Amino acid sequence: MRAPLLAALGLAPLAAATLLGAAEPAAQVAPPTPAPTLAPAERTAILQKTATLRLAPDLAHLTPGERAAVNHLLQVGGILQRLYEEARHPEAERERLLLLDEARSPAAAGAAGAAGTPGAQAESDAARLFRLFQGPIATTLDNRRVPFLAVAAETPGKNVYPAGITAAEVETFLAAHPAERPSILGERTVVRRATAEALAADLDTLQRVPLVAGLHPFLVGKLAALAEHPNPQVLYAVPQAVAWARPLTTAYLSLLHAADAVAADDAEFAGYLRNRARDLLSNDYESGDAAWVTGRFGRLNAQIGSYETYDDALFGVKAFPSMSLLLRDEAATAELAKSLGSLQEIEDALPYSPRKRVRPEIPIGVYEVIADFGQARGTNTATNLPNDPLFSRRYGRIILMRANIMKNPDLFANAQRRWNAAIAPASRGGLAADGGGGGFQRTLWHEIGHYLGPEWTRDGRELDPALASWADAVEEMKSDLVSLFAMQKLADRGLATPERLAAVRASGILRVLNDNRPRRDQPYQLMQLVQFNWFLDKGLLTTTADGFLEIHEERYAATVASLLEETIALQLGGDPAAAEAFFTRWTEWKPGLHEAIGKRMRDAQTTRFNLVRYAALGE
Ligand SMILES: [Zn+2]
Repeated sequence: MRAPLLAALGLAPLAAATLLGAAEPAAQVAPPTPAPTLAPAERTAILQKTATLRLAPDLAHLTPGERAAVNHLLQVGGILQRLYEEARHPEAERERLLLLDEARSPAAAGAAGAAGTPGAQAESDAARLFRLFQGPIATTLDNRRVPFLAVAAETPGKNVYPAGITAAEVETFLAAHPAERPSILGERTVVRRATAEALAADLDTLQRVPLVAGLHPFLVGKLAALAEHPNPQVLYAVPQAVAWARPLTTAYLSLLHAADAVAADDAEFAGYLRNRARDLLSNDYESGDAAWVTGRFGRLNAQIGSYETYDDALFGVKAFPSMSLLLRDEAATAELAKSLGSLQEIEDALPYSPRKRVRPEIPIGVYEVIADFGQARGTNTATNLPNDPLFSRRYGRIILMRANIMKNPDLFANAQRRWNAAIAPASRGGLAADGGGGGFQRTLWHEIGHYLGPEWTRDGRELDPALASWADAVEEMKSDLVSLFAMQKLADRGLATPERLAAVRASGILRVLNDNRPRRDQPYQLMQLVQFNWFLDKGLLTTTADGFLEIHEERYAATVASLLEETIALQLGGDPAAAEAFFTRWTEWKPGLHEAIGKRMRDAQTTRFNLVRYAALGE
């Protein structure tokens, strides 16, 4: 079925199989800089601290059409998984193929038969680490990013900017070429140096994939003009649809197959899949996002494409490929809808002005994860998209609560061990209150928190570009605090029980306990540390003589409100220097305090990393 279609689209049938490596301009790959590789003992230590979770929602009640759609969508997920790995490291695809070859080699099969052979162990360890870290760079137990295969060290711009480029060089170029800023710092573009090789490769792609070329009609002229005077000091950007034209065209076809399969059972979901298929090639997500957020789907749902910018440590603007395939829990979704109070009242109580009008209803549901891919893979507990301020203003945002992650008993047991290692006995009660549901409610209101608060700086700029690499940390902190703030308001109005408030408050403290000193490129951990230090400063938290934390509930509401006000002020100000100064001021890490608590929590938890496997992928 697929080969003739590919040919009709101007793709040689083999192009789909080669996917990434050969099609990428060689000039994008730096000569491998020798990077120290993870020591065998460190590999072992990481894997010993890795738990495996297996997600296996019951798909038996799906119709044959839904099941066929699931299979096509899993194919799309596989493509986006490989694109994600490639976007994060220029040598990821090569290493992935080498690991596959090793696994398939007769030597590996023989060695695997002789259990305990050191060689076989090393091979499977590398493959497992690659799966866990989605590429050749591991996060060590002390939070460094180190290659475990023979590849170049990780760079802040990963593989979506020229190898090893600095933010200063990009800014210098943009100062001289201000018209290029929207494309160079575009959410879904890949930045290259204007070398003859890179330009030739992109022009070749546009010639060979006419479907994509036709959707970007002015790009050939622009690239051809640059190619007349190649200059590595000049930067240019191509849409992801062009940078990854061949794999995304394959994904496009699989999405159309999935839509056809499910159309009779779920016409709206099929329509969304068709819109998203075209979005991947047009590089414009508006039609798919509109269909996704406003659609009333049946049992299946899916996040498809590039959304989150956490992997871009250079400017925090580039979205990385992802996919989540989800099955809705009908009963839990109906229950949730009833529990939501008035969002406008919460918005109106936030410490800033002027107010905005909040949509009276937001699409929110409880789901079981069937499988995750790329940036969405892991144990994240909820999804809230799109981030694009224009699209979310026009269509709203969809909130997908991931129940089989959030209610996983192994993850809760680990959380309880960490909690007990940090918190004094007299203050421990909250975590298990409300049936241990504090995490679910806090996460739910964190996601709604992204929906509330300012969308622009006071002088009318979008928050993400205005705050640059600080945008994610500030936005996530705002949502954490809105969650705690909102639960207080709900409790004040009798819409949340005291037990629920206690559970969410405990979850809010657990959330800000860091095991390790955060790196500057970890927005979540950084903003957690800011909150922790603020809570200490305001006396919400104090330490006992033996170094445990006591929680002073009477200070909770005021402490949260004061930091929320500061956080929203950073957004309204839109000044990255002010954000940096604030984060520097509030991210102190003291050996006798933070490190001591962190060490106790590290020692208490039996696992540090979670490798998620999916029954739907035959795992
Ligand atoms: Zn968030």
